[in-house]
Amino acid sequence: MELPQRILIGENVLRLLGRFLEIPKSAKIVVASGLNVQQKVREVVGFSLEGRVSWVNVELSDMENVHSVMRASRDARCIIGLGGGKSVDVGKLAASKRNLPFFSVPTSASHDGIASPFASIRGTDKHYSIKAKPPVGILADVGMIADAPPQLFAAGCGDLVAKLTAVKDWQLGHEATGEYYGEYAANLALMSGQLIINNSKKMSAGDRSSVRDLVEALISAGVAAGIAGSSRPCSGAEHLFSHALDAICPGAGLHGEKCGIGTIMIAKLQGLDWRAIRSALKDVNAPTTAAAISISAEQVTDALVRASTIRPERYTILSKARLDRRSAQRLAEETGVI
Ligand SMILES: [Zn+2]
Repeated sequence: MELPQRILIGENVLRLLGRFLEIPKSAKIVVASGLNVQQKVREVVGFSLEGRVSWVNVELSDMENVHSVMRASRDARCIIGLGGGKSVDVGKLAASKRNLPFFSVPTSASHDGIASPFASIRGTDKHYSIKAKPPVGILADVGMIADAPPQLFAAGCGDLVAKLTAVKDWQLGHEATGEYYGEYAANLALMSGQLIINNSKKMSAGDRSSVRDLVEALISAGVAAGIAGSSRPCSGAEHLFSHALDAICPGAGLHGEKCGIGTIMIAKLQGLDWRAIRSALKDVNAPTTAAAISISAEQVTDALVRASTIRPERYTILSKARLDRRSAQRLAEETGVI
């Protein structure tokens, strides 16, 4: 198991970044970050890291950006991914390839990659997250994350309810193929998904304690993947649906939004309480329909059919249900997605 060693969550903790890293004073530090985020935090981060920082601009999570972070980190002691999903994913893979410690400093809570050993990078031969190393440390500034657009908070909730169907798929896979199933990792992931179902009515994007709960649950889910040694507890057929949409209509909807919508439909196939999942997503203002993320009924149907081909070695409810266009469309209609 590879797990994060240090986690700091709190108000105004970004200014403690320098001390949090625990690396020698003269060491060079590479920070992968988007320009928008850099403008906001450059001063406080520069001050905290005492000027030893080399910024690398990351706007896309693709191999080109991974290589530019790797080039910049030749003589560095560690890499920090500071920002949303892209900066964290790019920094994580670059650090893993360079064999350097990676620190995750999320500015939003939109997906579980902030703590997991997986990175979602375009331009590889895989249409799903690839294995890297988990962050050595995670520093989450609750105030900064609470100031992020509410849509990102809702997406984080979508990526968490996905654990309910992901774990069910893992159980199905274990029964069908005898693959490893870890009760502890499964329960940890389930608990993070259940947090949204149980608390959705009182959770809201700008609220500090909601943000803290969400961040802790996302970290827990990432740790569950670290314990399992695979993305199994966090990613099932609902993620395959989201990955299929990435290919069919690139750029439409956030990862967590697509996973949340996928979870509603996959939960119905699995015989779970899909209505409870849908209403929790509505409570936190996450999209529950195709129209809400500007995709068509046809694209949803396509993605449901294509999902089972994305990672055929991984057993999910789709391996069993074998949806054709007609049954896929009916599923999307019955759950109100289209
Ligand atoms: Zn995810």
